[in-house]
Amino acid sequence: MNYDVIIIGAGPGGIFAAYELMQHQPQLKVAVFEAGHALSKRHCPIDGEKIKSCIGCKSCSIMSGFGGAGAFSDGKYNITNDFGGALYEYVGKKHALDLMHYVDEINLKFGGEGTKLYSTAGSRFKTMCIQHDLHLLEASVRHLGTDINYVVLKNIYNYLQDKVDFFFDTTVQTVKIVVGGYAVKCEDEVYTCEKCIVSVGRSGSKWMERVCKELDIPTKSNRVDLGVRVELPATVFAHLTDELYESKIVYRTRQYGDKVRTFCMNPKGSVVNENTNGIITVNGHSYEDPEKQTENTNFALLVAKEFSEPFKDSNEYGESIARLSNMLGGGVIVQRFGDLIRGRRSTPGRMQDAFITPTLNATPGDLSLVLPKRILDGIIEMIYALDKVAPGTANDDTLLYGVEVKFYNMEVKVNEKLETCYPGLYIIGDGSGITHSLSHASASGVHVARDIAEK
Ligand SMILES: Cc1cc2nc3c(=O)[nH]c(=O)nc-3n(C[C@H](O)[C@H](O)[C@H](O)COP(=O)(O)OP(=O)(O)OC[C@H]3O[C@@H](n4cnc5c(N)ncnc54)[C@H](O)[C@@H]3O)c2cc1C
Repeated sequence: MNYDVIIIGAGPGGIFAAYELMQHQPQLKVAVFEAGHALSKRHCPIDGEKIKSCIGCKSCSIMSGFGGAGAFSDGKYNITNDFGGALYEYVGKKHALDLMHYVDEINLKFGGEGTKLYSTAGSRFKTMCIQHDLHLLEASVRHLGTDINYVVLKNIYNYLQDKVDFFFDTTVQTVKIVVGGYAVKCEDEVYTCEKCIVSVGRSGSKWMERVCKELDIPTKSNRVDLGVRVELPATVFAHLTDELYESKIVYRTRQYGDKVRTFCMNPKGSVVNENTNGIITVNGHSYEDPEKQTENTNFALLVAKEFSEPFKDSNEYGESIARLSNMLGGGVIVQRFGDLIRGRRSTPGRMQDAFITPTLNATPGDLSLVLPKRILDGIIEMIYALDKVAPGTANDDTLLYGVEVKFYNMEVKVNEKLETCYPGLYIIGDGSGITHSLSHASASGVHVARDIAEK
């Protein structure tokens, strides 16, 4: 065997697996294969001047490379079982929280010291929300911010680089079973290992699907979350964000009984493009450094959709809607809430007249031509509900960017050790469909590393 352990993917799941293996069994020969670039080479060409929108790089630096999809994220590590994944269903609630706290300690050790940990525990907003049929979920959130998150990743890489073999710009093509372990085939070479940890995240979703089919590993379809990213003056949500930083609020619509939720709140942040398998959607982040902060806050409003019969492919549904918005807007569409309510498209002129400066250069358009009525109605209802706890949310100039889609990988069948039916083949992080967040993905890496180290 070339290696004791091969890790595929250097996102939070893969990084924390490598880190934890080195804590317990530093003599192990470990390799990490990553389709994207090394951290120092990750750079999105959009500069807002020469290059204003996504040019579809071969390897998207936002989604791929050391640090995974989380490298330029807001670095919000939510320590909770209420959202961000279902790791607790496999490892138990208490253990899942312990793992997330452990990840938090490592982040602090590698540069996150001094960053703030917010908590909803005992918050007066819980009462305020429930009075308006809005439900605030429980969580502690460590906000590293995009800048400190990068520093932490850089420090972890410096720590690991002479302990683990990193192969960047190296896409793994196949994983095959061989006597005594696994063979991992890259473009030119085949490497063998006793144990293999697959942590390919969302960008590796199609690849993961293929590998599961080839190895006959059972999977089941997951949900897709569809909606918009809302951007408004930071003052509108300041009373909530100053105390909680991120508030996850769920609302059940009166019209359809669908649940709409806030997601990924970025106080004084920026709205950004996201490229998943060539489809441009929207996301957001914010910096800890006050100099890089903006005057706006952004967050997503999402509705979950799951399909069963005869159509099963929730992701395909989400992709089709995102493609439609890309077709109409050449990328992401932006619309003023007032224009949406009046049934008219936003135009460059109307955008110029608005009392808010958008942080993303998107195409003014009409989201009602893109999002299904049921989803759009739910989002509008939630905006009016939020207006009661954060007056100003339903102002005409509130910006809606579309579409935001959260794709979830299909759920792969693994046991409580996150091991597949093949001993020594683990599937973790967002690629497993079990986690959807930095803290859950990282925790899953720690969990499997400890299992391997024990064995
Ligand atoms: C813009 C943005 C902001 C976000 N903000 C937050 C946030 O604030 N808080 C939060 O909790 N979550 C956030 N998320 C989600 C979070 O980043 C993910 O949940 C997390 O990164 C998942 O970690 P992972 O290791 O499972 O996968 P990923 O981070 O996706 O990493 C997987 C890695 O595997 C590599 N890979 C894929 N296929 C192959 C292959 N065949 N061979 C080799 N390598 C491969 C990819 O290049 C990638 O680098 C954000 C996501 C984005 C895109």
